[in-house]
Amino acid sequence: MIVMKFGGTSVEDAAAIRNLTELVRKETPRRPVVVVSACAGVTNQLLAAAQLAAQGKKEEALAGVTAIEARHKRIVKELFDGETQKFLYRHFAALAEDLAALVNGVAVLGELTPRSLDTFASYGELMSSFIIHHYFESQRMKSFWTDARTFMRTDDRFTKASVQFDVTEQRLREVVRPKLDNGYIVMTQGFIGATAAGVTTTIGRGGSDLSAAIIGALLDAEDIQIWTDVDGILTADPTVVKDARRIKVMSFAEASELAYFGARVLHPETILPAVRKNIPVRVLNSKNPRSSGTVIAAKARTDKRCVVKSIAYKEGITLITIVSSRMFLAHGFLENIFDVFHKYETVVHTVATSEVSVTATVDTVKNLPHIVRELKHFASVTTAERKAIVCIVGDNLRNSPGLAVRMLTPVSDININMISQGASEINLSFVIDEEHVDEAVRRLHAELFANAERFPEVFE
Ligand code: ADP
Ligand code: ASP
Ligand code: MG
Repeated sequence: MIVMKFGGTSVEDAAAIRNLTELVRKETPRRPVVVVSACAGVTNQLLAAAQLAAQGKKEEALAGVTAIEARHKRIVKELFDGETQKFLYRHFAALAEDLAALVNGVAVLGELTPRSLDTFASYGELMSSFIIHHYFESQRMKSFWTDARTFMRTDDRFTKASVQFDVTEQRLREVVRPKLDNGYIVMTQGFIGATAAGVTTTIGRGGSDLSAAIIGALLDAEDIQIWTDVDGILTADPTVVKDARRIKVMSFAEASELAYFGARVLHPETILPAVRKNIPVRVLNSKNPRSSGTVIAAKARTDKRCVVKSIAYKEGITLITIVSSRMFLAHGFLENIFDVFHKYETVVHTVATSEVSVTATVDTVKNLPHIVRELKHFASVTTAERKAIVCIVGDNLRNSPGLAVRMLTPVSDININMISQGASEINLSFVIDEEHVDEAVRRLHAELFANAERFPEVFE
């Protein structure tokens, strides 16, 4: 079997749905599980409605719900007629009523919990997948729609829940496998799951990629296809670098490093389930299916001379400098620091240490005041916000003499706050002020990929 995941823009309107239907039809012999996102923008609209309700702006929130209903009904109108159209109109009217009831509930309470946010957000994927399932049926494709909450078991860390693999695997075997064996295309949602008690959860923004990878790994897929709106993973974010090139092949390690350092094209955890089962992940363009995309696989080491594959960046970074109150780093100092980050569930991206100080970067500032207060028990602490990490990724960077110079020369007039070479030998990164990030990425790209055509097996 294979998994085909379609992101928001690949399901955004009737034309996109017709298009994806043909892509799935071609793969029918390979028994696809189709995992879809909400129509582009709908998750944001749902979360905005929830926030408005909590702020007491009930009418605005309800207007948001009406807009979401209208958007889906427009798609229904274009794709269906007769009884199916009437049935789907009724279905979407009923879902909009449910959402309006949620808005009313939140408005009355004046409080929005992460748990309620997840309930709101789940509607996007439920809506898009339902339309697409019915469209498959109308095109005489044998489709089975299943609510991901029946198999995707998570813990109850709402808005960022973790999937519990053992129960999910068992449930996939019971719910999904028999349908595939009977020749059905299985249609389901990314992003959403449920706790053991059946309460709706989501696994984090952009999480449909991860859902797809988990389903693929647990069902031993031959292939996990991530269909999006660009030709694959590119040498840089194409919204910043217009002439970014397609990367034809990359290793699991390179792709996950890139995702962690901000390349939105893949959710950062997507690669892990695939690595465990050694399943290739393909990033493909639903608007240009003729492009062969990017293949991410274990054996993707290419020409030794071609080391740098891509540049990523992450904005909204806070730099924390922690200076030991003693002259030298006392033993246990690092441990104490990381205990504090751990306690406040804050992920540290990069760290640099000197004799007496540690500099670390984080991207969630929610618990920053608590973290700083605790660190101050044993160190002096300063923080600087609105920073960005720029990171180059490629196998074997550590063994490439001269690379650091090539990386830093183009940005020699930009103040660099911190430099770090990943322990994984595949990333080299630096921290700068956020306002310089686009410029830095463009200059680095021009320097590092000027000769990319010399490596036609890696770049297009
Ligand atoms: P989807 O809705 O299909 O999941 P996303 O918007 O989450 O799509 O991810 C695709 C987008 O990621 C692209 O449109 C592009 O703007 C952005 N992106 C950022 N960095 C990269 C990169 N290195 N390669 C490709 N796309 C990138
Ligand atoms: N719809 C969800 C989001 O916008 C999940 C996804 O698209 O991957 O975050
Ligand atoms: Mg995405």
